[in-house]
Amino acid sequence: MVNNACMNHKQTILVTGAAGYIGSHATLALLEAGYSVVGVDNHCNSSADVYERVKALAGAHAVRLQHVQLDVRDEAALSGCLKMHPVDACIHFAALKAVGESTEIPLDYLHNNMGGLLSVLKVLQAHKVGAVVFSSSATVYGEPEFVPLTEAARLQAVSPYGLTKLMGEQVLSELVKLGEPWRIATLRYFNPVGAHQSGQIGEHPSGIPNNLMPYVTQTATGKRAQLTVHGADYDTPDGTCVRDYIHVLDLAAGHVAAVKK
Ligand code: NAD
Repeated sequence: MVNNACMNHKQTILVTGAAGYIGSHATLALLEAGYSVVGVDNHCNSSADVYERVKALAGAHAVRLQHVQLDVRDEAALSGCLKMHPVDACIHFAALKAVGESTEIPLDYLHNNMGGLLSVLKVLQAHKVGAVVFSSSATVYGEPEFVPLTEAARLQAVSPYGLTKLMGEQVLSELVKLGEPWRIATLRYFNPVGAHQSGQIGEHPSGIPNNLMPYVTQTATGKRAQLTVHGADYDTPDGTCVRDYIHVLDLAAGHVAAVKK
């Protein structure tokens, strides 16, 4: 939980991909922690309705949320947005995230994820904003050499999506070497799942889900007839795959902590 005693009402955070799964929960957590939020999203994998739900959940804090529909690769639009709504820091969530799809359309992934990151960084630099929290992924470890993983594990891209996260981290570590104004945190998420306890926001991918949990919830709500469990020869009690998960609210709190740091 975020300590309200540490609220800083003066800070405004640019949240890219704010209408997405993790972005919407982080936006709410930031508002509740006393930050103002400028959310941007092109809604390629989300709906703008999410903002109304976040506002309803945020209650009196909702006045501190602004949102703009734009593609983060559009430097002019992003810069115009920051001119209108100056920010102190950025959490960069906006990206395409489906590993399988990235092998089918690798250039689209590189263009969106790398182009998006570079555009965000250029615009932040122009606006003299150097504090960035970057959504990376456990996928940067590729095929793990050992489990549980530690940050000492070898990094390896095994998909075009993974490549965009690994290259993104490398770009950011080059900037950090330059010193001020760059202050950058990279968070490598493992399998975020769950939803806000109200049920009002959660994971609502456009089209076919790309990870397991939306299939589980869509089956539970009757949207799908059945859930197929793949894999039967893992070294586990029933032969199916075992994974570790992180609850999306814990992840949102982690982003607030990273921003505060
Ligand atoms: P999501 O698809 O729900 O949210 C991403 C949001 O970014 C969407 O609303 C989408 O419309 C938007 N977006 C994409 N490209 C954009 C662009 N060019 N301009 C503006 N908006 C754009 O995904 P999520 O699960 O919330 O993931 C957020 C971040 O976390 C991503 O960077 C993802 O790679 C990373 N991540 C996610 C997981 C996971 O399992 N969910 C795991 C590790 C890392």
